[in-house]
Amino acid sequence: MAAPSVSVPLLVPDLPDRDELWPYLRRIDESRHYSNFGPLVHELEQRFTACFNERSGGAPVALTSVSSCTLGLELALGALQLPPRSKVLVPALTFVATATAVLRAGHLPVVADVDERSWALTPEIAARALREADCRAVLPVATFGQPVPLPEWHRFEQASGVPVLVDAAGAFGSQWLDAGGTLVFSLHATKALSSGEGGLVVSTDAELIRRVRQMSNFGINLDAGAAVPVGVSHLAGTNAKMSEYHAAVGLAAFDRWPRRAPLRRERWLAQRARLDEAADGQLIWQGGEAPAAPVLMSLRWSGAGRRDALERHCARLGVVTRRWYQPLLPRHALAPGMLQRLATPVADMLAEDLVGVPFFPDLECRQLDTIAQAVRLTVDEFRTLPA
Ligand SMILES: *Cc1c(COP(=O)(O)O)cnc(C)c1O
Repeated sequence: MAAPSVSVPLLVPDLPDRDELWPYLRRIDESRHYSNFGPLVHELEQRFTACFNERSGGAPVALTSVSSCTLGLELALGALQLPPRSKVLVPALTFVATATAVLRAGHLPVVADVDERSWALTPEIAARALREADCRAVLPVATFGQPVPLPEWHRFEQASGVPVLVDAAGAFGSQWLDAGGTLVFSLHATKALSSGEGGLVVSTDAELIRRVRQMSNFGINLDAGAAVPVGVSHLAGTNAKMSEYHAAVGLAAFDRWPRRAPLRRERWLAQRARLDEAADGQLIWQGGEAPAAPVLMSLRWSGAGRRDALERHCARLGVVTRRWYQPLLPRHALAPGMLQRLATPVADMLAEDLVGVPFFPDLECRQLDTIAQAVRLTVDEFRTLPA
């Protein structure tokens, strides 16, 4: 049987078009600078730094661009200069890159549970985990783009002495440095603000950012005031620099952000209300404030078989769904010994019930009708059964 045609794609990237890119591309042609911290990368970093400084409550913010969030995480972990094979705490419910960054930095991911309301690793869960595993760093995740409470994590860091790095990949526009800390963002095409591929490491620790920047350029020292001469490498770096072409896309995306971010939030809230209505209030949403610029829509439908039934009805109507962040980290086919696993009863339960439905800012009315129809069919299918 032929697969049904797609009536509602899962996600449509929202990037600037060629007309919006044109002024930046001209500048590349004129400067003939293509990478190695060129003028467009500088401008992008300045604009993002100003944006974070406005909301940091006074602490000056340092920032460096990288070629992806995953490399940003790897280098930020490297910049902590932990002993090799240090244990790093990560949540079970996250994109696999959170764990691969830890592995590639030469450390051991220790997988912890998440909170039933926020679907995220919390300082309380981390404090409990530290009694079971001697972790040298914690990597909380802004689950599905929902910001983490940075002041609480800052207090955790002060109390435990264990450094915290936030995987804020999908949380640009929602997650700010409103306390001391380090955030790593993705500018991948599937995120709300994109340079095609790219990332940002943002921190109140200027020295950490200096090391990440140096490591993103093979570890070569470019600072005349440093102990080693300019041009000499003393850190095991890599090439994780953002090119001028990617910066051009990022700058054009930044130009349209004041229009696109509020549209995302408005459409997302309207879609959530519509699906709630279709589901007779049976859907469970991630707790807390809705993100300022939502990237995707993940919902929870508990009760045996309901999530799977929704997936079936969606598939039949050509609505693409995805179990975002699944399988859970411990279920990936990583070799034995590559992860240490703590008990994760909440994440295991959420994995039974969570599913992502299509969301993107230009989703049409009739497409939303189709998603709502799949939800309605699921409600009807279970109407005769006890909840
Ligand atoms: C998207 C995402 C990443 C990966 O970002 P890249 O820029 O593609 O490397 C990492 N972690 C989480 C939670 C993500 O959502």
